[in-house]
Amino acid sequence: MKKHNYSAGPCILPKEVFEKAAQAILDFNNSGLSILEISHRSKDFVAVMEEARALVLELLGLEGKGYQALFLAGGASLEFLMVPYNLMKVDGKAAYLDTGTWANNAIKEAKLFGETLIVGSSKAENYNHIPKNYSIPADASYFHCTSNNTIFGTQMKSFPNTDIPVVCDMSSDIFSRSLDFTQFDIIYAGAQKNMGPAGTTLVVIKEEILGNSGRMIPGMLDYQQHIAKESMYNTPPVFPVYASLLTLQWLKNLGGIAAIEKINEAKANLLYTEIDRNPLFKGVSAVEDRSLMNVTFDLENEAHQEKFDAMWKAVGISGLTGHRSVGGYRASIYNAMPIESVQVLVDVMKELENKI
Ligand SMILES: *Cc1c(COP(=O)(O)O)cnc(C)c1O
Repeated sequence: MKKHNYSAGPCILPKEVFEKAAQAILDFNNSGLSILEISHRSKDFVAVMEEARALVLELLGLEGKGYQALFLAGGASLEFLMVPYNLMKVDGKAAYLDTGTWANNAIKEAKLFGETLIVGSSKAENYNHIPKNYSIPADASYFHCTSNNTIFGTQMKSFPNTDIPVVCDMSSDIFSRSLDFTQFDIIYAGAQKNMGPAGTTLVVIKEEILGNSGRMIPGMLDYQQHIAKESMYNTPPVFPVYASLLTLQWLKNLGGIAAIEKINEAKANLLYTEIDRNPLFKGVSAVEDRSLMNVTFDLENEAHQEKFDAMWKAVGISGLTGHRSVGGYRASIYNAMPIESVQVLVDVMKELENKI
């Protein structure tokens, strides 16, 4: 039976990425060797890394604008501490927007380095919206925000205008919508939400903001060293980088971010329209902040849960259960999720209405 994978991450990837990645495990570039056994310094793998780094900047519209793309290890969670290590001045402070669990984890790490101001928070309402009308102190070393809150289903639709460096955790909506990416100085994203398998983290950095923290930074945690070594400071996560490249190529062939954005809007619109129309369901997050990637919703009446759960499982849907801190349901509809799969879910929601 065809599966419709709504998992929040690791998550669905394009079928052709799975096929090409599988082939490269058996025989990479007709070399007679597996991608898993070749040197990361070999000509074939260096070409993979170079193309992946260049394609990231091309897709984001950041080519020739002073940015560098790195594929690191350690997950987005390691960036929670690499960011303050590299940017927070000794005796300085940093400004954070608290929009949920991941933002909080970033804040926890920053506190180890210095004064960490929470300039806005929606914690009191269990993060069902994005805080607005906050101000950012001009003397902070940087401002950090989370563009899409994977767990709560909220998404920042705009970003504050500030003269200090802007750092954004885009783990769950990178490459999903058009933005002016030059408004960010660091963008980071764990691969496993919208780009590839777990094991690598994309970090895009405006080079000129580095080197000002006044801290001694261990080599493995120093963005400047990773840039100097062209993202090969040590053995990179070879296979996750290769699979990410395949996804980036898939996206480029599709027409890039502008093309996928239209598809993503159509998918989200289809699902939110049904949530709002169907009297058995309700949305969880504030309408103006609704995420186009993670759609959180719930039943109006818990008594229908058993029936609904059995129905969506019966049509091959998986991974629809909400995060334990929110409850209800969460449909993660990342780039690789086809609109046909969203229609399957919408049909089940209509069918439940007809049965009750
Ligand atoms: C999943 C996620 C993370 C954590 O990523 P890891 O790669 O597991 O460290 C961080 N931020 C956001 C927004 C996420 O969705």
